[in-house]
Amino acid sequence: MEERGSPDGDPARNLEQGPEGPETPIQVVLRVRPMSAAELRRGEQSVLHCSGTRTLQVSPPGGGPDVAFRFGAVLDGASTQDDVFRACGVRRLGELALRGFSCTVFTFGQTGSGKTYTLTGPPPQGEGVPVPPSLAGIMQRTFTWLLDRVQHLDVPVTLHASYLEIYNEQIRDLLSLGAPRPLPVRWNKTRGFYVEQLRVVEFGSLGALMELLQMGLSRRRSSAHTLNQASSRSHALLTLYISHQTPQQMPPVDAGELPAGGKLCFVDLAGSEKVVATGSRGELMLEANSINRSLLALGHCISLLLDPQRKQSHIPFRDSKLTKLLADSLGGHGVTLMVACVSPSAQCLPETLSTLRYASRAQRVTTRPQAPRPPKVKPPQHLETELLQLQEENLHLRSQLGQMDPKASGLSGARAAWAQRNLYGMLQEFMLENERLRKEKKQLQSSRDLAHGEQRILAQQVRELERRLLSACYLQQPGPGPAPPCPCVMVPPLLCHVFGSKAPGDWPLSARPPPWAPPCCPSSAKCSRERSRSEWTQTQVLAEMLTKEKVMPSAPPLPAGPLNASPVLRGGAAVPNLARRLEALRDQIGTSLRRGRSQPPPR
Ligand code: ADP
Ligand code: MG
Repeated sequence: MEERGSPDGDPARNLEQGPEGPETPIQVVLRVRPMSAAELRRGEQSVLHCSGTRTLQVSPPGGGPDVAFRFGAVLDGASTQDDVFRACGVRRLGELALRGFSCTVFTFGQTGSGKTYTLTGPPPQGEGVPVPPSLAGIMQRTFTWLLDRVQHLDVPVTLHASYLEIYNEQIRDLLSLGAPRPLPVRWNKTRGFYVEQLRVVEFGSLGALMELLQMGLSRRRSSAHTLNQASSRSHALLTLYISHQTPQQMPPVDAGELPAGGKLCFVDLAGSEKVVATGSRGELMLEANSINRSLLALGHCISLLLDPQRKQSHIPFRDSKLTKLLADSLGGHGVTLMVACVSPSAQCLPETLSTLRYASRAQRVTTRPQAPRPPKVKPPQHLETELLQLQEENLHLRSQLGQMDPKASGLSGARAAWAQRNLYGMLQEFMLENERLRKEKKQLQSSRDLAHGEQRILAQQVRELERRLLSACYLQQPGPGPAPPCPCVMVPPLLCHVFGSKAPGDWPLSARPPPWAPPCCPSSAKCSRERSRSEWTQTQVLAEMLTKEKVMPSAPPLPAGPLNASPVLRGGAAVPNLARRLEALRDQIGTSLRRGRSQPPPR
């Protein structure tokens, strides 16, 4: 029965290539250590069998069903340290660190399962005795590979290292000059969690780095218990900082500040242990408890990271120093490789199954590796000047906008403030203003039409009065000449009707002459036909003389009064003019008639 599969395809492809998208799964590699001499002596059986390069079969004693697990790579007890180094994919992480990514390799598993051995080889045989090269672990091999790689790069690279351990929930600097003292873990936005005052040592050769490693290993806490003669009692983190020093990049100003660039961190976790199995007492039990607690916090974070709703859920990285320092590797922007270590012994089966399940879950955890930011290039001098000028202009315009009187612009209170805040607001205000003006224009047009109508009626009346005036004048002309126009012909039937309220004689009302009209002469039937054109011109001139102006109707000029005045009043302003003219004409007609009765009018 196969319990878990690798989340994605070919392990070689996954291990040798860079991050391929926003979500990159944690790579998990399994290492099975060989049966120890003590285990063989006790006659313990192996329950683990590798099938192929990626699958591990677990055969429980007593004939239970086999359980299979798949990982990026599975390395059995016969694998050499070099096999592990080549298969685990740490070189890919080294390449990514050189490109500026933050990468982490950590070993995980039960105590005595070979974590420290896998990372740094067997414990030193004595003070100052180096580990034989064939047994050197992933770390020493990576150091050798990396320094060789750096020498063949085109750009100069600066390398730094730090080494710390978390012992009983306290951080101790393994490279400190004096005796290690507890250091605080801090957090900020750019660096995330970091250890304050941690010594970061620059190194330039493999030898110098190996010395730093030896120094840290020798200071690290370890104790002997029944399962491991040199059991690590702390979690250890060795970090390499790789920075490409381009002309634009400056070295860190503060001595405590870490150099910008890629990171490659090796984490050797203290193993989980059953206090009963290890027989730990007193201080050992205290250490075991604190190790187990921090591993439990790590397990809890991984479980939550696997939650599909993880974006909503809070990951309690702050629960332990270990999870704080691994936060970026587990759920952040780092690239992570886990080397799970297990013992093949049937005695360790429960812990082995627990590690295998845990590791299977971890390979479904994804991170979002962040591409390194290109170094900040200083803008050329002229661009900088231009930028400064634009900033000044911007400030000036802003201050002008701030000084604008909202009342003067026709806006008020909050609306004005809003309109000033953005151009969109100003545009809205203009649109509203336009709408208002459009309405006003429409009102003015309707009042003008109204005035035109009134003007037309009045002009008609004026014309009639002029006709009547001319008729009256004509009648007063003495001596021989053409017959005057007959009033009953000149005055339209409507006016006859209007002016003659009482109809004298038997004439139909419409044909009757006005009361003031003289009686028609006997030859008046054909008088209109005989009238000459020059006489008509003469009468028009006379009318104009009387009115002192042209009698053609025209549109009244629009008043220059306030815009908000009533349109009716405005349109009606033309009416008094016409009414006055009408009144004047009436007076003139009356005067002419009176004069006509007493004396002949002047020619
Ligand atoms: P852990 O760090 O997981 O507690 P260690 O790495 O200290 O365990 O290993 C426990 C013991 O087993 C050590 O003595 C170590 O030398 C030995 N050991 C572990 N893995 C191997 C291996 N692959 N080959 C040979 N010896 C190993
Ligand atoms: Mg160890």
